[in-house]
Amino acid sequence: MDDLVHPALSRPRKRAAAKAPSESKAPSKAGFESKAPSKAQFESKPRSRASGEDAKEPPKRNLMKKSAAKPKLAALTAPAIRRPSRAEAEAAVATLLAWAGDNPAREGLRDTPARVARAYEEIFAGYQQDPASILDTVFEDVSGYGEMVLVRDIPFFSHCEHHMAPFFGKAHIAYYPDGGVFGLSKLGRLVDVYARRLQTQETMTAQILAALDARLHSRGAAVLIEAEHMCMSMRGVRKPGALTVTLQFSGPFKSDPAEQARFLSLVRDRR
Ligand SMILES: [Zn+2]
Repeated sequence: MDDLVHPALSRPRKRAAAKAPSESKAPSKAGFESKAPSKAQFESKPRSRASGEDAKEPPKRNLMKKSAAKPKLAALTAPAIRRPSRAEAEAAVATLLAWAGDNPAREGLRDTPARVARAYEEIFAGYQQDPASILDTVFEDVSGYGEMVLVRDIPFFSHCEHHMAPFFGKAHIAYYPDGGVFGLSKLGRLVDVYARRLQTQETMTAQILAALDARLHSRGAAVLIEAEHMCMSMRGVRKPGALTVTLQFSGPFKSDPAEQARFLSLVRDRR
């Protein structure tokens, strides 16, 4: 058994409890549930589950290189759960292949569980990354530049936490520097840290803003995300092309409608 501690979902777990009743209604047609690992199996032995955003001391994350996270960011990190072994993960994929109606043992699918496990390491790499360390580097020599910095059209791919279906689109981020500016590529990396997790678009928007606000070098920030959700395009209501827009402001962007308007016009300005 592999005892790696995995920094888990990045939101307070009240929802997990609230969800439990509907999960118990999940399909149980072929007796899959009896063979499936129980949820409790993945919880770490000491059930030190934080119960809300005000959890003061989140459990240590052994994959975090720096302990530079400020309280606000730390509150966004989740309690640790036991990470299953790779063999367990691959077995779970094989189960889903059979559940879909195929034969996991046939030639074309034989290596699929291993490939999916490897792909998961990439598309969910955000759990292993520390947003605080990404924003550590600040360039202070900006010759007095104090205006808005906007990076728009940052592409991202994420997966919705309700269906594990992809959603993807663009993020637009602006902030007012305070004593230095973030490297421009850092904003793109910040988006990826949160996108490469199971997400809702709303949560991701709030997390990016909170990460910027938690650093000293911003006087306020604006985050706008527009994305298409495959769980809405290819299943459910089946509305391909529908874009979901979320936005959140802090500092002057929050208090001054003129700042919001300026941000929005810069985002929309396609020249
Ligand atoms: Zn979904």
